[in-house]
Amino acid sequence: MALSIAVDGPVGAGKSTAARELARRLGILHLDTGAMYRAVGLAALEAGVNLDDMRAIERVNESTDVSVTFEDGTQRTWLNGRDVSGVVRTPLASMAASMVSTVGGVRAVMVKRQRAIACQMGAVLDGRDIGTRVLPDAQFKFYLTASPEIRAKRRMDELRAKGDMQPFERVLTDVIERDLRDSTREIDPLRPASDAIIIDTSDMTLDEEVERMMEIMGPNVYYE
Ligand code: C5P
Repeated sequence: MALSIAVDGPVGAGKSTAARELARRLGILHLDTGAMYRAVGLAALEAGVNLDDMRAIERVNESTDVSVTFEDGTQRTWLNGRDVSGVVRTPLASMAASMVSTVGGVRAVMVKRQRAIACQMGAVLDGRDIGTRVLPDAQFKFYLTASPEIRAKRRMDELRAKGDMQPFERVLTDVIERDLRDSTREIDPLRPASDAIIIDTSDMTLDEEVERMMEIMGPNVYYE
């Protein structure tokens, strides 16, 4: 059975970076599932639909093809054949992703695709519902978290590195709003799986996070 590892948690908990590094060390794939919801969010924005209109989002979803490819371990995310890996990282696309991801039809398609990818080969998947829905039988489940202020600071630094100089208060408000929507939605809300190991990354460096996960998995973890 292929090794599967679930890494869930709220915005800015360090999931993606830690999951990518963990996958690199184990020689397996890293699937950033948030990028797939971002691509659907982008499709909805481009279609000009009201993001509160679930039926309109369902329609956009039905005519949208989101896929991923991997080159040397790096994920590229495609929307109807167009590479959107970069453009899905904006704050607008983040908010749109969090809105479209409340829609059942969107989640059904994404979960199916994500499972299919994880079935084919060993993978670390990061997201919100990996341990609870996508891979309930994952060999290891981690739930990373940190205080909202620390998470907003990390998100702000990430945006600033790309030249987006949003003020801290604005980023904090966005983070809190997105967390609230993700954790209160009806379908597969953000929450730790009952068998997930919760790691508070507030005072940890990336290296420490990954070391902690490797330590928990122990020496018998399967290396490809
Ligand atoms: O992880 P990232 O911040 O890129 O995810 C963007 C949004 O996609 C999240 O705020 C969440 O609403 C949604 N998402 C989800 N389920 C996942 C991954 C992301 O609902 N597995």
